[in-house]
Amino acid sequence: MKLLRVIPQNMLEGKKVFVRVDFNVPLENGVVKDDTRIRKALPTIKYLIEKGCRIALASHLGRPKGKRRPELSLSGVAKRLGELLGREVKFVDDCIGDKVKKETESLKNGEVLLLENLRFYEGEEKNDEEFAKKLAEPFEVYVNDAFGTAHRAHASTYGMVKFFNVKGAGFLLEKEVHVLSEILNAPSHPFIVILGGAKVKDKIGIIENLLNKADAFIIGGGMAYTFLKAKNEPIGGSLFDEKHFEAVKAFLSQYSEKFFLPVDHVVVTDLDSLEGLEETEKIGQGFIGVDIGKKTRELFRSKILEGETIFWNGPMGVFEKKGLEEGTFAVAKAVKEATEKGARTVIGGGDTVSAIHMAGYKDEDFTHVSTGGGATLEFLAGKELPGIKALS
Ligand code: AMP
Repeated sequence: MKLLRVIPQNMLEGKKVFVRVDFNVPLENGVVKDDTRIRKALPTIKYLIEKGCRIALASHLGRPKGKRRPELSLSGVAKRLGELLGREVKFVDDCIGDKVKKETESLKNGEVLLLENLRFYEGEEKNDEEFAKKLAEPFEVYVNDAFGTAHRAHASTYGMVKFFNVKGAGFLLEKEVHVLSEILNAPSHPFIVILGGAKVKDKIGIIENLLNKADAFIIGGGMAYTFLKAKNEPIGGSLFDEKHFEAVKAFLSQYSEKFFLPVDHVVVTDLDSLEGLEETEKIGQGFIGVDIGKKTRELFRSKILEGETIFWNGPMGVFEKKGLEEGTFAVAKAVKEATEKGARTVIGGGDTVSAIHMAGYKDEDFTHVSTGGGATLEFLAGKELPGIKALS
């Protein structure tokens, strides 16, 4: 992967640089509610300012599906970015066409422009050739700093890159790839992988790829019930993934000693009202498992504290609901303690990251908090990410 940091000064100064960032932030009435993602892009933006580039930033926001949706405009992000940089950030209400060309041309060295939401055009997600060409047209240098979308072959992450001779990964993308490559290629042992969340589907690839590398898989959340059913445990009305049942059975029959599953559960009879909430070791008919129980929290904690390398993606329960967050918070605490003991800890996925923040922890409490969810899982599943491939 080519890196921004090695592009010579004369190829940057005065040049019109397109920077793909991940400004997919939560908004409330157009105002940024959480600016974490904007802050993470600052090192690359500041570097380009110092190098005297004429900078145009581009991102997607939400899922407008090719339609212009005013509530998904990036204009509020320009304001917040301006405050964080302490300088004016211009905004143009389009990402292709004459207006963008004119605004880019008029940029002075070190000035910053933010383009409108890339996904207002269908061509972005479809990686449409014409759209990619139009995106690239006004610019001389391409930089990608959006790790969170690196697993998507979209026009701004993939299609447009071939039009540039001078290109490179920004500092955030570089760091993400560096940290995850270390986990993949040279983990210290014991290497413990903690997986949770609802979907088995997204985590099959990472389990397969790490079966021989990881020492233990701790499985919680909704996905754990497919594993428990494979061991003939009663799961009541809990989540069950029939499609991936055979794969799960195969993991357990070949590597049963590596898998650590819940031994007790918080269950309810109705997820909306939380009726019937209780802790149990055997899930009865009509009950749904919604969090790991106290014994499981202890079991997982002692395993986590053995780890030298720890990767965690996916909550242990429906943590968004008050009363069902304890299992996820307990794991967050154990991973933080493991970090303090010297373990290398990496956390990925939007839900998991919001859970650690809800639990009162900061990114600095862990070795690395990844900006990627799907991208992190695909990287650790050993897949080549299109956004990284395009920079190679
Ligand atoms: P994923 O995108 O697969 O990582 O799933 C994240 C979602 O899983 C979160 O919104 C959680 O509320 C949900 N989740 C976690 N545990 C359970 C569970 N036991 N039953 C249903 N949903 C769950």
